[in-house]
Amino acid sequence: MRPFELQTAGNPSDAIRKSQDASRAQSGARYLAGGTNLLDLMKLEVLTPRMLVSLKQLRSDLGAIESDEDGLRLGAMVRMAEAADHPIIRRDYPVIADALRLAASAQLRNMASLGGNVLQRTRCQYYRDTSWRACNKREPGSGCQAITGVNRRLAVLGVSEHCIANYPGDFAIALVMLGAELDILDSAAAPRTIAFEDLHRSPGDTPHLEINLQPADLITSIRIPAGPWTRRSRYVKVRDRASYDFALASAAVALDLAADGRVRSARIGLGGLVARPWRAVEAETVLNGRVLDESAAQQAAEAAFAGAVVHSDTGFKPELGRRTLVRALLETAQLEVSA
Ligand SMILES: Cc1cc2nc3c(=O)[nH]c(=O)nc-3n(C[C@H](O)[C@H](O)[C@H](O)COP(=O)(O)OP(=O)(O)OC[C@H]3O[C@@H](n4cnc5c(N)ncnc54)[C@H](O)[C@@H]3O)c2cc1C
Repeated sequence: MRPFELQTAGNPSDAIRKSQDASRAQSGARYLAGGTNLLDLMKLEVLTPRMLVSLKQLRSDLGAIESDEDGLRLGAMVRMAEAADHPIIRRDYPVIADALRLAASAQLRNMASLGGNVLQRTRCQYYRDTSWRACNKREPGSGCQAITGVNRRLAVLGVSEHCIANYPGDFAIALVMLGAELDILDSAAAPRTIAFEDLHRSPGDTPHLEINLQPADLITSIRIPAGPWTRRSRYVKVRDRASYDFALASAAVALDLAADGRVRSARIGLGGLVARPWRAVEAETVLNGRVLDESAAQQAAEAAFAGAVVHSDTGFKPELGRRTLVRALLETAQLEVSA
């Protein structure tokens, strides 16, 4: 691990100013939240910032969970465990509670922040291990060793010929499905809001550009709009081990059903096998106005994976993804939901 300077910010403006000062001095600063992803990547020397700006003292500014008739607002420094265990989130947004509860380990969830969670980097071993020479994400233009290498855990949706790394997180899949927004303070501490689906970029021919944020941009909160679908929502995660593992495939589903069981609105997010948090809009369209039975769920799953691109070890993934989605849809339709 390379030496670095640690600064502690007292409030959001102070954090941005310290990050800006470091950029002007060309020392490349990064915000430090729980550190569970950033410090890993620094130890591996995949990331080598010369300054970290700790956000730990920003818990009073960015640590609140608020809910009203417009929706849910989660401060960026809320810990994963706090949101997973929150009674209103468990009742009104169970897909969020599930996605967080099924992620990482209890120790990590007690440490890690929601802001850091959505910005976690891929677990592609060719990105994380610098002894592999070719990784377009780490070294633009160097190639992609994963395409011809061991790629069982990598993506089949949203990939490009330059990168097949997957986005590994769970929470973000629920957020993209629910149409969340991010509140951001920019380098002049001016607020702006972006749709969560615009945060992550598809790899295309620039896989090293992963997110649509500037270096000093600070995420302050995540907003999830209320809707008649949030209570009937569920996250299904399929992984090699039953706990403490990343998804091979996952599906986040929320449904608004009419009294006769027909779908008024279906929302579907896919994870584990995607290059970025993925909303399966074509699959949602298949379900509109239909009774959600096995046949409808199968057709939606076919639509969701119509564009899948497989490589040597990922041939099984579209079928795993389809089965995961069918299960998530049928289980969500069966949920007992109180008014
Ligand atoms: C063994 C292991 C297993 C795991 N399993 C899972 C899993 O199954 N599912 C899952 O979803 N995750 C999993 N994770 C990932 C874990 O959830 C993330 O490491 C964690 O959520 C990151 O949050 P953090 O607060 O520690 O972020 P940090 O490591 O502090 O930061 C991550 C990135 O976000 C930036 N950042 C942080 N906060 C802000 C902000 N407010 N504004 C702008 N930038 C910010 C940092 O600069 C950094 O670039 C696992 C991690 C480990 C180590």
